[in-house]
Amino acid sequence: MSDNNWSFQTKLLHNDAKVDRATGGVSVPINHSSTFHQFDVEEFGKYDYSRSGNPTRETVENAIAELEDGTRGFAFSSGMAAISTAFLLLSQGDHVLVTEDVYGGTFRMVTEVLTRFGIEHSFVDMTDLDAVRAKVQPNTKVIYMETPSNPFLKVTDIRGVVEIAKENDCLTFLDNTFLTPALQRPLNLGVDIVLHSATKFLAGHSDVLAGLAAVKDPELGQRLYKLQNAFGAVLGVQDAWLVLRGIKTLHVRMEHSSKSAQKIAEFLSKNDKVLEVYYPGLKDHPGYDIQNVQADGPGAVLSFKLEDGEAVKTLHKHLELPVFAVSLGAVETILSYPAKMSHAAMTQEARDARGITDGVLRLSVGLENVDDLIRDLDNALAKLPQPKKNLVR
Ligand SMILES: *Cc1c(COP(=O)(O)O)cnc(C)c1O
Repeated sequence: MSDNNWSFQTKLLHNDAKVDRATGGVSVPINHSSTFHQFDVEEFGKYDYSRSGNPTRETVENAIAELEDGTRGFAFSSGMAAISTAFLLLSQGDHVLVTEDVYGGTFRMVTEVLTRFGIEHSFVDMTDLDAVRAKVQPNTKVIYMETPSNPFLKVTDIRGVVEIAKENDCLTFLDNTFLTPALQRPLNLGVDIVLHSATKFLAGHSDVLAGLAAVKDPELGQRLYKLQNAFGAVLGVQDAWLVLRGIKTLHVRMEHSSKSAQKIAEFLSKNDKVLEVYYPGLKDHPGYDIQNVQADGPGAVLSFKLEDGEAVKTLHKHLELPVFAVSLGAVETILSYPAKMSHAAMTQEARDARGITDGVLRLSVGLENVDDLIRDLDNALAKLPQPKKNLVR
């Protein structure tokens, strides 16, 4: 690392991982050692055992720390491993306030696991700061954000929530999976721990599961390090290498995919088979202004609503390009079906309460030619019957 304040785009390539100090190799070596020989009986070297520290994993940990403008990074075996380890900062009797449209895996961890350890939670619409303030309890220790959220891309005012947290002496966690540090750097907005499913945009190629975390405060970093080492859900070295490889192209991928997502969102907004489009890059999106202030772009994920499940089946049958799958943030465009995928664990009632009808689809835009993607969507949408009720946008 140098002291030069290079731009984000340059830092993706010119960082700790640029060359192997021992050989000059321009690709980081994958160090498979689980243990390390000690040359001295009294003074041990930097590494002793790979759960506690490994050179390959450390390179990706330093990379995320630098890209998020933090002081310390951590790499885990999955996004959920990162999130769950961060929750281990809580103790029995503590309370965590969670955004109501949180990722399904985080929902499961909070409602089915933390509860067994006496850690309470409540959910709140994080876009409503008054509601957040009202839901903070004397034992609230963490406020957990995810913005933009899934599947409706709701935007939380990060600085606003951080202010409430500081007034109440609680920590803030933020799941930055959808935007990555290429577009949003929450630590600079006062967030304490930024979390990632690096499985998505950071690695970017649908070929690895990984989780990352970064902090600014060294003392908090030390506490999180202890938990990473104690819980042990660390990232393997092959996977660490894949994440490092993916990160090199993060900027070009995010830029291309975000531009395409904007075009697709605008195209869908004008299509009469589509009832609603949810994308923070559209001026009529309720989070448009906040998104512009706190992030460098609206990202590459959007959702839209068709009339019903039948319309979804017809669209699926006629679409040729997108992969129809769980997950997001890859080189290939991925179409997901929240009612049957990410939110399938919820009851129909819980989905209805959140507006996740059988007509809602989420699109994570990849690197294909955007005109091809639009042509594919246009052809498939043309096969749909005219919606009966023409809902107001
Ligand atoms: C996928 C995802 C996770 C979980 O990450 P895994 O790598 O699948 O464990 C967490 N948060 C968000 C927003 C995600 O999309």
